[in-house]
Parts: sequence; structure tokens; C-alpha cells
Amino acid sequence: MRKNSVPETQEVVLIGAGIMSATLAVLLKKLDPTLTITVYEKLDVISGESSNAMNNAGTGHAGFCELNYTPEKEDGSIDIKKAIDVASSFDLSREFWAHLVENEIISNPEDFITPTPHMSFVWGEDDVNFLRKRWETLSTHPLFKDMKYSEDWDEIASWLPLVMKDRKKGEPVAATRMEHGTDVNYGELTRKILMNLLFHNQIDLHMAHEVKNLKKKEDGSWELKVKNLATKKKSTKKANFVFIGAGGKAITLLEKSHIKEAKGYGGFPVSGEWLICNNPEVVKQHHAKVYGKAKIGAPPMSVPHLDSRQINGKASLLFGPFAGFSTKFLKNGSYWDFVGSMRKDNIVPMMSAGIHNIPLTKYLIEQVRQTKEDKLNALRDYFPDAKAEDWDEELAGQRVQVIQKDGKGGVLKFGTEIVCCEDGSLAGLLGASPGASTAVSIMIDLLQRCFPERFEAAWKGKIQEIIPSYNKASIAPKEYSDSRQRTAAILGLTPAMQHKREEVSSYVS
Ligand SMILES: Cc1cc2nc3c(=O)[nH]c(=O)nc-3n(C[C@H](O)[C@H](O)[C@H](O)COP(=O)(O)OP(=O)(O)OC[C@H]3O[C@@H](n4cnc5c(N)ncnc54)[C@H](O)[C@@H]3O)c2cc1C
Repeated sequence: MRKNSVPETQEVVLIGAGIMSATLAVLLKKLDPTLTITVYEKLDVISGESSNAMNNAGTGHAGFCELNYTPEKEDGSIDIKKAIDVASSFDLSREFWAHLVENEIISNPEDFITPTPHMSFVWGEDDVNFLRKRWETLSTHPLFKDMKYSEDWDEIASWLPLVMKDRKKGEPVAATRMEHGTDVNYGELTRKILMNLLFHNQIDLHMAHEVKNLKKKEDGSWELKVKNLATKKKSTKKANFVFIGAGGKAITLLEKSHIKEAKGYGGFPVSGEWLICNNPEVVKQHHAKVYGKAKIGAPPMSVPHLDSRQINGKASLLFGPFAGFSTKFLKNGSYWDFVGSMRKDNIVPMMSAGIHNIPLTKYLIEQVRQTKEDKLNALRDYFPDAKAEDWDEELAGQRVQVIQKDGKGGVLKFGTEIVCCEDGSLAGLLGASPGASTAVSIMIDLLQRCFPERFEAAWKGKIQEIIPSYNKASIAPKEYSDSRQRTAAILGLTPAMQHKREEVSSYVS
């Protein structure tokens, strides 16, 4: 049996100050307060990459509105497994965040989470039939029992005035609505967690420090080469456990670690862009996240959506993301990232994934060539009356999709992948979807894989105390709704609290 490489007194290093490292840091400190945790971040800000609010869509992914989580099977039925997984994971995140609020590790949850209905909207007979079947199947499950469905023009218009205004009548339309949806500022949440840990001397946080290399030592520990980007000084750091939470750059550091489990992995970068509206007259007419159906060949994360966002006290509307191609692995990365990641062991999988994804390549080329007018026309499918002067283009974050070796050469994957070395002393996170929403369950999985004995002996029980729904094979419908009501009250998501928030924000503005 493999043993945990991590001894009792432990040096832990987390690379990157995004939502994943922040979640892991606070979980580890809860589970073992004696750990010494050092975080290195190459930027001079916390959550400056994908976790930053403007770099992602801020959806608390819960499977309510994302049509790509409920594909139609060959027999015409709807597969809801992925939606259930994501919904359960997001409920774990909510319970964990509620625990952090109750224990005063983070405060003022309204700074990072805003109740925002999650809706799907489709038009045309085929898509209406799909949405109806999806709702019929999902609403039998306790996690989705509150989902509303409508094909009634006036009812949908009362939910989504901007979407229905000036829309051509005659075409069938349908929408679903979940009131429990949320908009999450993952950047703010990351900052709150890391700043609290720093303030209480629970972590060492080194900003503008880039981890350049890492090497396994004979005693089983890791030696990291770190560069202080302000002084240009280099230093070494020893660690018993390393987490590579470097976002798009995780693939490069995993390659440098030379662990055999990372062999055959590659990364395919996809950049993103939004249309953003800051005109308060328009913004106040829409309050929902509205997801539609993806175009043929579009990667699942490029499903268009029109979102109400609440970022640092300011409301705006975001539409997109439009996909693009950039060879960078991070927004603040290098144009050499993609080429530099090619190795003997991943070149075949990378080429094979390219050959087998011609529709994706065609889709990306089409997207890159889009002008602002083309983007506005795509927006007008959702908001027919959109005016060019109200919308600006804004760069979103960079995603790196996982390419993995398989029997046929290589396959492009759209999920998240934990790569963990055999003795559990190093792990890295690849991929971006469903992403930040499921950070808590991803990090719990990582702990279970890297520290199996400690996890079984002590940590699992502690996690169950912190997150009551964790590891429950089946939960009665009443428990689901009790848990959601409890976390809603702690996180300020109840209708009464929402009303207070609106009152306060109208008073402030
Ligand atoms: C366009 C877009 C839309 C998205 N929408 C959603 C959404 O609606 N909901 C959702 O849940 N998720 C969404 N995601 C996914 C989500 O943003 C990511 O899954 C999540 O932010 C990843 O967090 P992270 O901590 O792994 O990475 P990041 O936030 O990218 O953090 C990695 C950090 O590592 C640092 N770093 C890199 N290399 C080094 C090094 N060598 N040394 C030191 N530091 C280093 C980087 O500077 C960065 O700060 C979206 C992503 C994108 C791009």
C-alpha cells in the first residue's frame, strides 16, 4: 500500500493565488492547523487571472441553466447526471462558504455572492421540445424541484423584459427559471479568504514571486526554485506537499515536475471576450443569468449567455463569452506558452486532438474573425433591441482545455482534471469547467487522493462537521431544501435580505 509522503510537521507550498489555492489553504488549515503553508503568486495582485470577477462569468454553476450539462441521448431522453453532480457540488460550496461566514473567516457575503435567477431561454420548435423534456426530467429530482417552465410569451416577458421586447412574434419560445441561482465574485471571495489567513498568520503569502522550477529530492520532498520578480533574486524552497494551482500554467509546471502521471497531457488555449453594458437604464431592466443553446461545433464553455453581474458594488450586464485563439496560457502569460508546452510525450495527443476536432477549429476561426457588429448581432438573438453605443468589448480570462492521451492518440476534454503523483506529495489542477463553483468538492477530492490515510482516519469526519451534506449517499428532499434555506440565510440570499440589499444600494447610489 502506498504511504503518505507527508510527515507530521509539514511544509506545504501552494503555487498561485486563485480560488483553488485559497480554498485548499483554508481547508488544510481547518483540518490540520499545525501545517506551515506558503503561497507564491507571480502577479502583484490576488486572483488576477481566471478567478478575477471580470475574467469569468461569475455563474454559481448549479446545473440550473446550462443546457450543455443535460445532453439529449440517442433515444431522445435527457441525461441529467452531470447537472445533478454540478448542483450537488455547488451546494457543498455554499455550505462551506456559509461555514466560513459563521466562523468569521470571511464577512459581508454580499460582497461576493448575489441572488440572481438562473434561466434557460430557447426558440424554435426543436429547442422548445428539448427544453420542455429537460424540465420534465429535471423537476422530478429534489435538487431541481423548484424549477419553473413556461412557453407563455407574457410570462416569459415578465421574467425577461429585455429578451422579449421587440422580439418577432410567431416563433415558439420557452424558458425555465430557478430563483435559487447566484452570481459569484470569485475574485473577491479569494481575496477575503487569503487576507484572513494572512492576517491571522496562518499562511505566508509572497506576491510577485514566480515558481520557475521544481524537483523531487531523494528524501521525497520537493525543492522549488522561486524568483522574486521585484528584486530579480532567486531562492529555493523545500516542501513536503506542493499544489500547482497555477491556472492555465499548471500544465507547464506539471511537465517540469517530471512526474510520470503528467506524461501525455497537453493544453489547448482558448481566449475569451465579452460584450459589457454599464448603462444603468439598460442594466436595471434585466435581472437573471440567461443561458441559450450552443452553436454546432462550439465548445461547451462558449454557450452564449446574458448575465446580470454585481462586481464591487456595481451592476452591469455581460454577454458572451466569444471564444478566440491566443497561444498564451494565462492572460498575463507569454505567446510562447503553447509551443513551449509541446513535449515528446504529448505532441501526438495534441496533434490527434486537433485532427479530431475540426468543427471546434472551424468554430474558433469563425469567432476570431468576428467584428463588434457580428457580436452585437449574436447579442440581438437574446436582446433584440440592443444598441451598439451601450455595449463595449472586454477581454475575458484565458482557459486551457485539457488534451489527454487515449487509445486513438489524444482527446480534447472540457472538464477539470486533478493530476496527482503516486506518493501524493504533489498535485496539479488542469482544465476550467465547471471551475470555481466546484472548487470545494475538487479540493476535497484532491485531499482524498493525496492524503488517503489521514483523510479516512480523521479528515473525512471533520469535513462532514463543516459541510453537513458531504459524502451523504442520499439526502431526503427535505434535507436539500433545509440546507439551501440555511445557507441562503447565512449568505444573505433570502428574498427579505435581497430587498434590504437593493434598498441599501439605491440609497448609496
Ligand atoms: C471566460 C471564462 C469564464 C468562466 N466562467 C466561470 C463561471 O461562470 N463559473 C465558474 O465557476 N467558473 C468559471 N470559469 C472558470 C474559473 O474562472 C476557473 O476554474 C477558476 O478561476 C480557476 O481558479 P485557479 O485558482 O485554478 O486559477 P487562477 O485564478 O487562474 O489562478 C492561478 C494563479 O496562478 C498564478 N501563477 C501561474 N503560474 C505561476 C507561477 N509559476 N508561480 C506563481 N504563480 C503562478 C497566476 O498568476 C494566477 O494568479 C470561467 C473561466 C473563464 C476563462
